[in-house]
Parts: sequence; C-alpha cells; structure tokens
Amino acid sequence: MPRLIALIGIGKIALDQHVPALAASPDWELAATVSRSGTVAGVQSYTDFADMLAKNPDIGTVSLCMPPAPRFDYAHAALMAGRNVMLEKPPGASLAEVYALEQLAQDKGLTLFATWHSRMAHAVAPAKAWLADTTITRALITWREDVRKWHPGQDWVFQAGGMGVFDPGINALSILTEILPRPVHVRAAELTFPSNCQTPIAASLTFSGNVSADFDWRQEGPQTWDIAIDTPKGQLYLRMGGNVLEIDGKVQAGKNSIMGEYPALYARMAKLVKTGASDVDLAPMIHVADALTLGIRIQTEAFYL
Ligand code: NAP
Repeated sequence: MPRLIALIGIGKIALDQHVPALAASPDWELAATVSRSGTVAGVQSYTDFADMLAKNPDIGTVSLCMPPAPRFDYAHAALMAGRNVMLEKPPGASLAEVYALEQLAQDKGLTLFATWHSRMAHAVAPAKAWLADTTITRALITWREDVRKWHPGQDWVFQAGGMGVFDPGINALSILTEILPRPVHVRAAELTFPSNCQTPIAASLTFSGNVSADFDWRQEGPQTWDIAIDTPKGQLYLRMGGNVLEIDGKVQAGKNSIMGEYPALYARMAKLVKTGASDVDLAPMIHVADALTLGIRIQTEAFYL
C-alpha cells in the first residue's frame, strides 16, 4: 500500500520533478498540496499548511519544495504535528536551523531527509567507486549556467537566504562531498555581487587538496556542469551534473538525463520512513557557509532576472 504524502510549495521544481516522480512511485500517493497559487490536477489543494495538517491526520509525510528561507517554519510545524519531512536542497537558510530540525526529528522519532538530488545522478556512484582507492592530485568544478533560464522571475535567489549562485553550486558540492575519498575544506573564495543583489552571482572557491570551483550564473548558450578530477591512475570527468562519467576521455557509465534523480530520492525516503531513520548530511552547506565567511567581495553591475 502506498503511503500518503503532501507536497508543499507548488512551483517550478514541484511541477518539473516531484509530481512526475510521485505519479510513477509505487511507494507514495500524492494526497494533498499546499500552495498559495499552485495546484496539481486531481489532488486536493490547500492554501494554508496548518489547515491541511489538521484535516488530514492520515497524511504521514510532507515534502517541502519552497525556497530555503521560509522552509524552517514549515518543517518545524510538520515535525511538531508528527509528520515525516523531506526537504528540497539546500535544506534550509542556515546550518543551525537544520541541526535544530534534525534534533527535533530524533526527539519525536520521525524521519527527516535533507535531499541532495544531484547525488542521485546516474554517474555519481560509479565515480565514487572509481575514486575510492586512489589519490586526488587536482579537482576542478566548473558549474556555469544561465540564471534567467533556470530561475525565471524567482527574485528570492538574490535575496538574503537565497544563496545566489550557490543555489546551483551546492549541487556540485553535494557531488564533491559524496565522491571524494577524503574531505577537503574551503581556504579562500572570491564572491561577485551585483550592486542590487544580496547574494553572489558568481563565486570561485579554493579548497585544500588542490581542489577548486568556478560557479557562474551568467553563462548564456551551452551550459556547463562538469567536475574534472586528476589521479595517478587517470583523469575522471563527471559531466552533465553528475550524469555522465568519462575516464581519460572515454564514456564509462551514466546517461545524459536528470530524470532518474527524483524517483531515487522518493524511493530513499520510503526506505527511511519504513525504518524510522533520518538522513541529514550538511557537508555541502558547510562549504557554502565557509565560502560566505571567508570570501572577499567584488561588486559588479546591477543584474535583473
Ligand atoms: P519557486 O518556483 O520560486 O518556488 C516554489 C514555490 O514555493 C512557489 O511556487 C511558492 O508557492 C512557494 N513559496 C515561495 N516563497 C514562499 C514563501 N515565502 N513561503 C511559502 N512558500 C513560498 O522555486 P523552485 O525553482 O521550485 O525552487 C524551490 C526549491 O527547489 C529551491 O530550494 C531550489 O534550490 C530547489 N530546486 C530548484 C530547481 C529548479 O530547477 N528550479 C532544481 C532543483 C532544486 P506559492 O506562492 O504558490 O505558495
């Protein structure tokens, strides 16, 4: 029997990925939505979260798809109401608030899953396996995309708590922290802020261990989501956001599609709920917080979505 779940925040990612993943899932039945403007055909919709929770005691799990800044209040209310919670990435606006949610979930015996969809990309597991027994001599992340294409009209990305270019950059960091055999840490960063924005539009990060990252949200034309890793046994390239694995220029594994990521997240959530476990790894967000702490600030011209 599928478990009942509610989707909260019916915007771009809910409609692009969560709704199709739930429709195809043997584990879940989408039983309600909460959104001030969005709905899903054939599913009962609410505009008020407390109202949905009160009227649906049989919905045991909620999946929160709104931007990170407002997410804590919803997650806290859901856990207090005895519901399991799945968080879109990044899991919150600050590290401390997510640690607080993790503790609350543990106290209540509920599941909290801080998802990282890019970790479910097709080539991440084979890349991790290939790197497990080797030394990393250099790694370079290049994550350059067009914010106007992927976040049309989403002003929150440039407001405090929106993370700016780290909103996509944290996907690369979620892969990096999954596949490296040993952890690295940020040593320096350069952050480029448009004069009218509270968050950076570009960032370059220098990590320990000869690892670096180049994030830019101003790339028009072809988009780049690549990680290159040099090792004594050859060069590994993860392309297409972790979906295609190349070793020394030859494709070894993966599939040029992101469509498996959200079904894999919901399958994992079903397993976590079944066993009463949580999965909250904040390593990618720690790198972002450290870059924002250590980074020098460069101002550039105003930017409009
Ligand atoms: P979005 O479309 O701008 O927002 C999603 C929904 O959240 C909105 O439709 C809105 O619904 C609700 N919302 C916005 N502000 C809110 C607030 N202050 N309080 C309560 N609800 C609010 O954003 P999105 O692109 O779906 O991104 C949402 C999350 O998914 C982000 O964390 C993002 O990093 C992640 N994500 C996005 C993508 C992508 O391609 N865009 C990919 C992967 C992950 P109502 O106004 O109808 O209530």
